[in-house]
Amino acid sequence: MELKIGVIGIGAIGQDHMKRITNTLSKGRVVAVTDVNRQQAKAIVDAFSLDARIYEDGHQLIQSDEVDAVIVTSWGPTHEEYVLAAIEANKPVFCEKPLATTAEGCIRIVEAEMKKGKLLVQVGYMRRYDSGYRALKQVLDEGQVGEPLIIHAAHRNQTVPDTYTGDMSIVDTFIHEIDVHRWLLNDEYVSVQVIAPKKTQQAAEHLQDPLIVIMKTQQGTIINGEIFVHCQYGYDIQCQIVGENGMASLPDPASVVLHSQATRSTNILTDWQHRFKAAYDEELQDWINSSLKGEVNGPTAWDGYVAAVTADACLKAKATGETTPIHLQERPAFYHQSFVPEKV
Ligand code: NAP
Repeated sequence: MELKIGVIGIGAIGQDHMKRITNTLSKGRVVAVTDVNRQQAKAIVDAFSLDARIYEDGHQLIQSDEVDAVIVTSWGPTHEEYVLAAIEANKPVFCEKPLATTAEGCIRIVEAEMKKGKLLVQVGYMRRYDSGYRALKQVLDEGQVGEPLIIHAAHRNQTVPDTYTGDMSIVDTFIHEIDVHRWLLNDEYVSVQVIAPKKTQQAAEHLQDPLIVIMKTQQGTIINGEIFVHCQYGYDIQCQIVGENGMASLPDPASVVLHSQATRSTNILTDWQHRFKAAYDEELQDWINSSLKGEVNGPTAWDGYVAAVTADACLKAKATGETTPIHLQERPAFYHQSFVPEKV
């Protein structure tokens, strides 16, 4: 069996996903694409030697009989309408974050999916597929460090362009921390505080960098999250869990330790594509496999909703400097399903 996939929006990550479906993964084929820039779409289809039809817009692609399942990798504000259209068409849809740009938009998707009576939506929180985070979750779930008390996390980029806004540090960058820590802990957030340390001179005038985001969970665990997008030295994701009986750390990506000229050195990656390449591969292969079975195995629309509500609270906490409560709707029974992707 093969999943015939349509891709909406073939910019950076859309092309990345097309490449992995075509060259690396199995049981999926890109048969349709669309992008506001049709010339670019044609050039990419040709460059990949794909036998894929180029559609006028996302809605035509979703409705096409040629398309079994949809990947949404267009600009964030367009995600909601395409995900809703895919649900309406009864087609599995993989949506890159954000699921929608507002919590209300996420709830509209949740309601549409529940009305359909079937899970169709997976959201692109790929860290749940990273082998290091999975190993960390296993250690936690097995109680090897006891009850988790504190998580020290850091999300560091070498640098970002001056077009990167203050809100992006939360909705584009920290959003991955928001998803992965509640998944690691099997817990939900109740409040957040944002603190601004001394600002780096490397950041544009408008951007407070770094930031410290402190989230508290229902069980009382504190996540002490650093966002530093001009750290200069590399792309570095850190996560250390302090428990009652021990401490567990996210492993760094494997890299040769070189001993030379009286120096011991090892490389640090500089970009997210390489850091999470294997996780993206696992994530999309899992989506293809589960879509063929009529299931959703990864992060759901509900996870997209929780991320949106938490990100809104982070933005409010950042603007006011106050500890801000996080109020979630009660999780519907419909979403009481697998939150741990099985090994692909
Ligand atoms: P990008 O390079 O700007 O690509 C988006 C593409 O979609 C562009 O070619 C854009 O065309 C096109 N587009 C915009 N609106 C469209 C519409 N209505 N219909 C069809 N195509 C449309 O952005 P990106 O970096 O690939 O990011 C895309 C999404 O993926 C974002 O939501 C981003 O947050 C998410 N993302 C997630 C991760 C992750 O780690 N999970 C990583 C990267 C990105 P124009 O350029 O002409 O507007």
